[in-house]
Amino acid sequence: MDTDDTTLDELSEIWEDIRENYQESRNSDYDRTVLDCAARLAAEPGGESAHVWTIGLTMMAPYLTWLPGEGVAQRAVAALEAADRTLREQHCAHDSHPYRSHDDEGDAYLAELLPALDDETADWEEDRPRSEWRCPLNAAGFARIALDIIHPGSVTDVPPRLPMEAKEAISTLSALLNGYPKPWTDIENEISGQASELSGAAPADRAGRLMVVRAVTWYAVSGMVRTKSVLDNLVGALEETLPHFADAGCAHDGHPALPDSGPAAAGLGIELSSAGGRNLYEQSRIASGRNPPLDQVVCPVLMAETAEAALSLLRTRRDELFGERDTSHADAEYLRADGRLDIGKLVERTDHKSWNEEYAEDLALWAARRHARSDDRDRIVLLLVARQSMDNAYPSPPVSVVRDVLATMRAVAAAPLPTECPHVDEHPTLRYAEFRDAMAHFWDPEEFPPAAETRSPESWTCPRFAAAVAAECVAELVRLDEED
Ligand SMILES: [Zn+2]
Ligand SMILES: [Zn+2]
Ligand SMILES: [Zn+2]
Repeated sequence: MDTDDTTLDELSEIWEDIRENYQESRNSDYDRTVLDCAARLAAEPGGESAHVWTIGLTMMAPYLTWLPGEGVAQRAVAALEAADRTLREQHCAHDSHPYRSHDDEGDAYLAELLPALDDETADWEEDRPRSEWRCPLNAAGFARIALDIIHPGSVTDVPPRLPMEAKEAISTLSALLNGYPKPWTDIENEISGQASELSGAAPADRAGRLMVVRAVTWYAVSGMVRTKSVLDNLVGALEETLPHFADAGCAHDGHPALPDSGPAAAGLGIELSSAGGRNLYEQSRIASGRNPPLDQVVCPVLMAETAEAALSLLRTRRDELFGERDTSHADAEYLRADGRLDIGKLVERTDHKSWNEEYAEDLALWAARRHARSDDRDRIVLLLVARQSMDNAYPSPPVSVVRDVLATMRAVAAAPLPTECPHVDEHPTLRYAEFRDAMAHFWDPEEFPPAAETRSPESWTCPRFAAAVAAECVAELVRLDEED
């Protein structure tokens, strides 16, 4: 079969290329190919070659969900609708047709299959015979599949499939929540975008959208997000959503546990955010005999609990990450009964060890706040404790901590300095083991033995030493803000 000068072999290759590389914006070659295919179908919607053109448009449909040229998708849709109307009226003796079991994984084989459809001498390894593939009712089925790809949920009597947008969302979120965001992902936009999707969700999609928000919430509260408005957006969307699930009741004996990993939770949420995805879920549940029924998974009672839990986590962490942190509890931990610093504990907790990560934020903040109202000997210890704890914080110290630590560090770095050091030895080095032993000995020479490296007390309390330490810390914290 020839179409002008292009053989079906060549056409299949061109269509396959568009199917594989569909993420193109206003590609004029793509537009021309789609329009040509649509025009041929529109010229003879019930014609003998209709199966070729409907399969062609099925292959190119993903591009029409991306960014085709003006009017291109509309022309394709009009041709497909006309073809469906005309072809579905025809009669045949087949019990079934291949389109009925054609899912999105099958799209990848269409290019290979097409040329063999009209060439009786070609190898044929399909389950269904050529006659069923070429049947007008099968062509009508593929017209509807193409329409379902272009406008998800716009037709019935097609196998369920995820909307292209949902596939792209799963891939983007999975990469992000696994800790390897795609290079073009704007993380804060992506998370805030999921909040908007929940706010604007149709009732049937709301449970799925809520599950996605639950998944991105874990990322948002991890400390990796340093912009408060992202958490505000999630809180706002959940507050708007809760009333929709409030007062819900159900007859379920219990509810299934939702996935507890970010990528899995987001993937399920996206799947359940479209009619096609929900049908896929049920189809695979029935086929596999695994997974709880849909009504239990999206039950409003479960969704109310889910929204409450996410909201409570967000509010708590928003306070910790961005609010005024209360560090009064740290007095009991880092001061002795007589009110003096517990130098042993401070030295231990500033050690550069992973188990100190959990203390680092509050300790840095407490030390920075206490710094201004301490004597010279305490001040340098508190400055160093704050500085080393900022290094220990993981992930990067949150805004609520950086704010006060930075204020202290800036004040110390900006204080007027003597032109020369009031001591002859060098400043203490901040290498960990030596530093810790030496700091303890400096602060309490009676109780702690001299370290391998000792410096004069004047070297420890030297304002030029403090200013250098503070300036270096300021530079690091400023760089952190700039990275955001
Ligand atoms: Zn048939
Ligand atoms: Zn229920
Ligand atoms: Zn000095």
